[in-house]
Amino acid sequence: MFEERSGRKSVPQRVNDYITSLYPKAICNVCIAKGTDLSDKRGHPAQVTAALATTTDFVRTMGKCSICKNEKQLIRAARRRSKPKF
Ligand SMILES: [Zn+2]
Repeated sequence: MFEERSGRKSVPQRVNDYITSLYPKAICNVCIAKGTDLSDKRGHPAQVTAALATTTDFVRTMGKCSICKNEKQLIRAARRRSKPKF
């Protein structure tokens, strides 16, 4: 499903890293797309965040985005990254 590998990292990995780096802030799909340099044509951030939200590492909430300040559905990391990978 998310097999795109145009860069060094897959799209979900980039989204994952981005949201985790902003912990504990919650942000919206639009800002995730901007922050990870995704375009809708390629990565579909909404799909990626929906997938991430099914894991225990991320929480979906409603509220004000920390970046664009729009009231909408947001996602945030459930906790700080515990094991640095690089
Ligand atoms: Zn936003």
